Amino acid sequence: EAPLLEVKNLETAFDINGKDFNAVDNISFRVKPRQIVGVVGESGCGKSVMSLSIMQLLPKGIGKIKSGEIIYDGINLEKMSEAQINKIRGKDISMIFQEPMTSLNPVFNIGYQLQEVFFNHMKISKKEARLKSIALLKSVGISRPEKIVDEYPHQLSGGMRQRVMIAMAIACQPKLLIADEPTTALDVTVQAQILDLLKEIQTINDMSIILITHDLGVVAEMCDEIIVMYAGKIVERTDADTLFNNPKHPYTTLLLGAIPKMDSNEERLSSIQGMVPSLTNMPEVGCRFANRCPKAMPACFTVTPSLSEIQLGHEVACLLFETSKPREGVR
Ligand code: SF4
Ligand code: MG
Repeated sequence: EAPLLEVKNLETAFDINGKDFNAVDNISFRVKPRQIVGVVGESGCGKSVMSLSIMQLLPKGIGKIKSGEIIYDGINLEKMSEAQINKIRGKDISMIFQEPMTSLNPVFNIGYQLQEVFFNHMKISKKEARLKSIALLKSVGISRPEKIVDEYPHQLSGGMRQRVMIAMAIACQPKLLIADEPTTALDVTVQAQILDLLKEIQTINDMSIILITHDLGVVAEMCDEIIVMYAGKIVERTDADTLFNNPKHPYTTLLLGAIPKMDSNEERLSSIQGMVPSLTNMPEVGCRFANRCPKAMPACFTVTPSLSEIQLGHEVACLLFETSKPREGVR
């Protein structure tokens, strides 16, 4: 089956004091129709920049796609004009963010904001748009949608606001939904409800989802495939079962150790020691994880691992698993 989205050798750079730094450094992956792909990594690993690149929403004058291709349903998105991309955004591909309060407009009621989405992409009357909005709110599990439609964002709970955001994102039945930390701001029970809702909508609407999170626990049950990112690069990619049962990259293993156990009161194992290197401070050669990796060897500081398929459908970028002779100094 042809992929719905194909990202090929994407490099996205940010201009910092007149110099380009790659926040996303040569990543490639595919999303098939109806597939849920999880993208996992700590903050600062390039996940959000990757999704903003796909949406063509990089901050103007600061972030830019330096090279590579983003092909959605056969169309090269990075070559499109602003007008062309506006037709696709919100209709074919849409996005939800972590904090709905920043994406919902506080001065307009919920109904108005939902109707705007319809008006942007369809020719319908105000009355139809209102009815559609109410139906949509109902479909995302909001009770008494006739009342909520006239309320303002601040009148709703965090979970309700995220449901409204999801309603807006799916209003035009997109084929691809990018959800960037959609549950991070919510408490655990509401998180689970929102994830269930996404899964349910995915099935009903036959859509694909890219689910971005720093928490592997979130993607465990939902995703078909998981991409682990570190410092702008993909370090491991495979199906969810393999990732959880047979992780290979030391970073993945540490992320798995950071998932809290359901049956204990123990605090979540504190996050992995050390920090993701900053954009301006990326090591020039070697593995970018080397300074935090419990398995680092001397070679890790001088030889750059490349993503290679260690088994069918399982890619890892780590010298421990590199079979061919590594190329000195190539990043
Ligand atoms: Fe660790 Fe070396 Fe593998 Fe990097 S290449 S993850 S430093 S073992
Ligand atoms: Mg982010």
